[in-house]
Amino acid sequence: MRADPVDQRRLLELQVQDTAAAQLERRVASLPINQRVADLTAQLTQANDALVASRTALSDAEGARQRAEDDVVPVRQRLQRDQERADQGTIDARALTSLLDEIDHLKVRIENLEDLELEAMETVERTAAEAESATAAAAAAEAELAQARAEREAALVQARAEMAELRSARQAVAALEPADLLELYERLRARYSGVGAAELLGRRCTGCGLEATTADYDAYRSAAADEVVRCAECQRILVRNSD
Ligand SMILES: [Zn+2]
Repeated sequence: MRADPVDQRRLLELQVQDTAAAQLERRVASLPINQRVADLTAQLTQANDALVASRTALSDAEGARQRAEDDVVPVRQRLQRDQERADQGTIDARALTSLLDEIDHLKVRIENLEDLELEAMETVERTAAEAESATAAAAAAEAELAQARAEREAALVQARAEMAELRSARQAVAALEPADLLELYERLRARYSGVGAAELLGRRCTGCGLEATTADYDAYRSAAADEVVRCAECQRILVRNSD
């Protein structure tokens, strides 16, 4: 391929801009705030899971308390009926003894059920407190995540502005290059870790960092100035000094 030495040299300028853009992209990808947003997102998920679990526990406890409350109602009604019958004094002694036995039995039963109800109420109180603190923890995690996202967005706004500037400067330089030379540069840049054009400094290629053998060096120097030379080691476009 042939290209004006000025166009060849301009590739180095293009390379500087492309390298800067790649560095900026890497910098944005490795911003500590990205990790913080990821960590806080995981924390929020955990907090929400805990919240759901505590609300389920509370609802279960309320159900148990309601059942305990309901269970005691018919027993109290029966006790009241029995008590009224006993108080009326209209039944015989034998039936009365049996009725009083039942009354004693019902009183014990009510005590047991009331104990269960009390226990259930304590469980409701405990799970309600847990659900409350889980709600607060989830809200705090959400607020922290929102804050971190805002910080990240601010960092990205700045990076996007820098990137837009780099892109427009690069476009201006790329527009001056002949299409075939630019196409070759892009292809090599994609293939060789983002570097498509390198300078020959002394005997060293700045792309791969290797010194040319005497035979290669002689070939580079003796090629016509408008010949597009490639590094024998790394295949990148090798831009020679015009002197
Ligand atoms: Zn090289």
